[in-house]
Amino acid sequence: MLSWQIIEHGKPLQRVTLDTPKPQGREVLVRVTRSGVCHSDLHIWQGYFDLGGGKRFYVKERGCVPPFTLGHEPFGIVEALGPKAKGVKVGQKRLVHPWIGCGKCAVCKAGQDNYCVSGSRILGVNRAGAYSTHVLVPDPKYLVDASGIDEAFAATLACSGVTAYSASAKLPALAPSDRVAVIGCGGVGMAGIAVLRAKGVKNIVACDIDPLKLQSATKLGAKLTVNTREADAAQKLAGVAGVIDFVGTPATAALGIAALRKGGRYVLVGLHGGELVHPLPPIAQRAIGIVGSYVGNLAELKAVVALARKGKLKPMPVETRPAQEVNGALDDLHAGRVVGRIVLSFERPAA
Ligand SMILES: [Zn+2]
Ligand SMILES: [Zn+2]
Repeated sequence: MLSWQIIEHGKPLQRVTLDTPKPQGREVLVRVTRSGVCHSDLHIWQGYFDLGGGKRFYVKERGCVPPFTLGHEPFGIVEALGPKAKGVKVGQKRLVHPWIGCGKCAVCKAGQDNYCVSGSRILGVNRAGAYSTHVLVPDPKYLVDASGIDEAFAATLACSGVTAYSASAKLPALAPSDRVAVIGCGGVGMAGIAVLRAKGVKNIVACDIDPLKLQSATKLGAKLTVNTREADAAQKLAGVAGVIDFVGTPATAALGIAALRKGGRYVLVGLHGGELVHPLPPIAQRAIGIVGSYVGNLAELKAVVALARKGKLKPMPVETRPAQEVNGALDDLHAGRVVGRIVLSFERPAA
């Protein structure tokens, strides 16, 4: 198989030929046809997350040691089954849920793999991912039928879709007139707007620094847009019931938390980095919630796929590029030049 790997953090990915794995036990080998490029891939590629105050979290500490294959938005065709893999057939097209835990602990048994601390097996994060012609999936239960949805769009649901869906579930109960702000209209933020619309939220305020992304957010269903570089941004946002922050910098957190009405909730998703310093009494006095949301679980992925299959979830802009252009895709994402999602195609990877 061909994989595009991190050989050294921060350096261009290299195309390498590896032995195609043979599935054992309940494992399933999937031939990848589409693989989304996510902003968090940039952090893993660089090798660390910025914790603020000069501190860093290095991805090698959670098992991501080069040579490493990124890619956690896989869509493909079942190519081979381990002897104990049941419930799927060779040749079936499937979306892969990448947020896989140890499979044995209490949270995994409760279907909350994304909260597992006993040995995550997340594809593209601490197990070989889908910037590759093939990906090995530990169990057929992580394969989701997304038939009827465009393959490239389906791939984006595995991270941006499920992450947005899970974050939206952490908002407070909303009255019809309540406003919800989405900070950051990159790929996951766009999915956030689409998910909120699909769930019937009408007053979505899209926030970004890029007018092109704000334009695209309006097309997806945002009612208002706020350019957060403008002086009156805080004023325009004041009184929102909920904020989903898909950026996650000290500035976006300060903006989002300050904008909440009493009883409102700030949901942090973005991993851009830094640290939060906030006076304590107003958190109690304003009865606000500050909650983190990390990707989503299998049931949530199935729910977001169901929304898409019913035509309720509007697809964000998706641009498909050949797999060999992966480094250009990462550069464009890093430079903020991507509206929506870039999805890699592995149909003719050897060309
Ligand atoms: Zn992602
Ligand atoms: Zn577990």
